[in-house]
Amino acid sequence: MIRVENLTKRYGSVTAVDGATFTVRPGTVTGFLGPNGAGKSTVMRMLTGLTPPTSGHATVLGRAYRDLPNAGAHVGVMLDASAQHPGRTGREALTLASIAIGVPRTRVDEVLRLVGLTDDEAGRRVRTYSLGMRQRLGLAGAFLGEPRVLVLDEPANGLDPQGIHWMRGLLRDFADRGGAVLLSSHLLAEVQAVADDIVVIGRGRIVAQGPVAELVDGL
Ligand code: ADP
Repeated sequence: MIRVENLTKRYGSVTAVDGATFTVRPGTVTGFLGPNGAGKSTVMRMLTGLTPPTSGHATVLGRAYRDLPNAGAHVGVMLDASAQHPGRTGREALTLASIAIGVPRTRVDEVLRLVGLTDDEAGRRVRTYSLGMRQRLGLAGAFLGEPRVLVLDEPANGLDPQGIHWMRGLLRDFADRGGAVLLSSHLLAEVQAVADDIVVIGRGRIVAQGPVAELVDGL
C-alpha cells in the first residue's frame, strides 16, 4: 500500500534521504525507526506530496500521492502537530478539513469520539492545547476520511503512557481491519510495542528492515 523505491532527497550538499527502498503491506503497522535527523520526516513528506524527490519514487495505493484522486480521504497524514490552525477551535479545524476532503460533517463528531477529545476540549482554541491534545487532534484529522493508509510522524510525542497505550490499540485495530500504517519514532521500544514490521533508517539510508519478530525480538 506504500512503496518507496530508491528514493533520494538532497538539500544542497546535504543528502537527507539516500536511495531508500521499502514497502508497507496492508494489514500491518510498519515502524520507521531512526535517530533525529535520520531522514524519516523527509521520506514522509515525499510520500505525501509535500516535497518532490530528487530521484526515485514514492507511491501510496499505487500512485504518487499528488495523482491519487481524493488523496486526503484515502490517506490519513499527521506530520507535524504544530502545523494546526492555532486560532481555531479543534472542532472548527476538523470541520474545515472535512469540507476540504469532502466527507460529511457528522464525521467530525465520530473522530472526536474516536480520539477521546471531549465536547469541551473540542470547543477550545488549538493554541491552548497541550501537545498530547494536539496529537489527538492530529490523529482525529488523519482518521477523518476513513483512510486505508496512515502516515504518522512521531505520533506518540507528547502523549502520556495511557495515551500511548490507547494509540497503540487504535492503530492495531486499524491494521487488523486491513489498513496500512507507517509510523515513525526515534524510540525502539515504541516501535516494538505496536509494529509488525520495522524499517531502520540512519543518515538517510535504510540500514535494516523486516518483521519485528525476526529483527528485534531475538536480540
Ligand atoms: P528525521 O525526521 O529523521 O528527524 P529529517 O527528515 O527531518 O529527519 O531530516 C533529515 C536531514 O535532512 C537532516 O540533516 C535535516 O537537517 C535535513 N533537512 C530536512 N529538511 C531540510 C530542509 N528543508 N532543508 C535543508 N535540510 C533539511
